[in-house]
Amino acid sequence: MYQLPQLEHTRTLNAIAVLTSGGDSPGMNPAIRGIVRAAINQGIKVFGVNRGYSGLIIGDMVELAASDVTNIIQRGGTLLKSDRCDAFRDPVVRNQAAEILRKNGIDGLVVIGGDGSLSGAHLLTQESGIPVVGLPGTIDNDIYGTDDTIGFDTAVNTALEGIDKIRDTAVSHERLFLVEVMGRNSGHIATQVGIACGAEMIVVPETEFKLEALCFSLANNRHEGKGSSGIIVVAEGPRPGLTYRLAQQLEEQGESPGVCILGHIQRGGTPTGRDRVLASCLATSAIEYLKAGYSDIMVGISESRICTVPLRDVMERTKPVNEQLLDMAMLLHK
Ligand code: ADP
Repeated sequence: MYQLPQLEHTRTLNAIAVLTSGGDSPGMNPAIRGIVRAAINQGIKVFGVNRGYSGLIIGDMVELAASDVTNIIQRGGTLLKSDRCDAFRDPVVRNQAAEILRKNGIDGLVVIGGDGSLSGAHLLTQESGIPVVGLPGTIDNDIYGTDDTIGFDTAVNTALEGIDKIRDTAVSHERLFLVEVMGRNSGHIATQVGIACGAEMIVVPETEFKLEALCFSLANNRHEGKGSSGIIVVAEGPRPGLTYRLAQQLEEQGESPGVCILGHIQRGGTPTGRDRVLASCLATSAIEYLKAGYSDIMVGISESRICTVPLRDVMERTKPVNEQLLDMAMLLHK
């Protein structure tokens, strides 16, 4: 499936640490397993840091054995727990974290998380010189430089499972439903889910929502005898309550839409085969890159190949939503 890197090993690693940070995603466990097994099987000790950067800054870590990650490949969430840690934004606190890593004889760190976590990873390695490699672990798929993130595929499939059920009711009652999926600043989940469920419309934060166009299309459907059922997939957007506000606007236009907020169910559950394979490949490659002397990079996937992306770019750049796909979704639902 993926082309793995084969590199010359230039660095001797005695021990590394691994942590999961920010919003959890299904596939973090297979990634942890991959890091632990790939490292231990090459003679490198692995410390698991509990609760992301919150654990790192107080040295809450334990050495893991290969058997500690038995039977986690199929589990959602993260064995190591995750957290948000505002203190880690302070360089003094990051310096303390670096000291803790050095004191424990750790000469490499793997951070699994979203763009915020990877920004913290970039600053840590820049300031301390400790080699750090990041893995994109987020359901949002909003990380620059990688086609896929660990957890995205599972989240999309979880949302689809719910929407297919809602579709049954929508059709039976000839009713319109607004279904909210995750995505505060990005419409990647909404786009993929919208295409896969045959949505009548997809609302994403990156593009303007046109109420008039939707009402026109609904009226047209009725006129052509296509019934008035439908699914509109809405990315949650930066301000809570968007989907309810849209529903109200539609009510003012004479529609009576149902609203369903899928919420956190999208973050959990058994990772799909695709996410397990992606996580395993990225984790194994992360160890390979660390051994080859790389640092301050994220390991991602580009055109079915494992790739590296500077963490600075991950921190500073964004991944635009694919507008071609949004246009395609509109073309196909008609
Ligand atoms: P995600 O990694 O899922 O995007 P967040 O944006 O909440 O989640 O970031 C997770 C954690 O990463 C934060 O709680 C903080 O500890 C760390 N972090 C995020 N942004 C920065 C930053 N600019 N500098 C240092 N640490 C950061």
